[in-house]
Amino acid sequence: KVYADYAATTPVKPIVTEKITEILSEHYGNPSSIHSIGRDGRKYLDQSRREIATLLGANPNEVIFTSGATESNNTAIKGIARKRKHLGKHIITSRIEHHSVLHVFEELEREGFEVSYINVNDEGLVDLDELKQAINPETTLVSIMLVNNEVGTVQPLYEIAEILEEQNIAFHVDAVQAIGHMPIEFDEMPIDLLSMTAHKFGGPKGIGALLVKKGIQLDTFIQGGEQELKRRAGTENVPYICGMASALAVANEHMDENNVHLMNLKEKLIVGLQQHAIPFELNGSMVDTTGHITNLYFPFIEVETMLTLLDMANIYVSSGSACTAGSTLPSHVLEAMYGEHERVKQSVRFSFSDLTTEEEINYIVDAIMKIYNQFKEEENE
Ligand code: PLP
Repeated sequence: KVYADYAATTPVKPIVTEKITEILSEHYGNPSSIHSIGRDGRKYLDQSRREIATLLGANPNEVIFTSGATESNNTAIKGIARKRKHLGKHIITSRIEHHSVLHVFEELEREGFEVSYINVNDEGLVDLDELKQAINPETTLVSIMLVNNEVGTVQPLYEIAEILEEQNIAFHVDAVQAIGHMPIEFDEMPIDLLSMTAHKFGGPKGIGALLVKKGIQLDTFIQGGEQELKRRAGTENVPYICGMASALAVANEHMDENNVHLMNLKEKLIVGLQQHAIPFELNGSMVDTTGHITNLYFPFIEVETMLTLLDMANIYVSSGSACTAGSTLPSHVLEAMYGEHERVKQSVRFSFSDLTTEEEINYIVDAIMKIYNQFKEEENE
């Protein structure tokens, strides 16, 4: 079996499962209870908050725990837009964001906000001139992702920040696919809010965080108790928060060696396909990219057929983001990059992790070669 869909989700690392089990059974106190069992729970919560803050170069007070990046993105975007609506009702994002960003912007549009959706080039890089032009005195928020989840393109975050400089525009970054792959120094970075989710780097699903720079005010999204400095109500998921901290520690510790490994796998996949003369093209960039995501266009086969044939060969990949893969909607990311082209329906996302081996890449190349040969035979019949 070859799992190559790590951008959709990763298996939980054994050390993380151990940590979660320990907290679940031995440190079950509610951090808001004032007795000693509650204080014990609080101790583990605070410790994990400090750990995560340190690993991301942030202050512990800047970390809000959420149920994942979908909630973080919703909180950040709605929270800023609504808090600042007396300053202006114009907000900006890109065309290739995850649906948990794009659908929020669409909702705000229905609420009366004006939205600019910035285009990207054929490598998936946002058009900086268009961004510059889009900004007006009413602009209060820009939300642009760091690493695209379908094609792996890395956005020029510092150049974007330079454009926004000294204009009192909040800059939110969905960094889900960057965590564990790129060093994050939140306090040093010219951004105001950052979203992340644990299950993309060996942690459990349903837990994440929103980092918010000191001084940035948000409308509260979930009302109730006074947890998370009154910014997100609800009893904290202490076991999963501790699990996320340990997953992040492992991911950060091995980041450099993992990146070398992942770039090597990406190259091996591409070179392997070339050596077998299989027609394909890369969707995205070979330079502004992370190693863990490779999206390829195979001009001889529909993506659904390709996924089925790969599945039969026990290779598990997807056609783009998991939410889109469940339906037959063409990828909005590939559409933004290539327009209405057959490429949009004939592309496959391979995503790898430290667990992926060179043998697995060979197996994938072999399987695609067989699929291609079968296609050629059928064509000649
Ligand atoms: N943003 C990006 C770029 C993603 O890849 C994902 C993953 O699905 C999300 C947001 C949403 O994360 P979650 O489903 O954990 O809320």
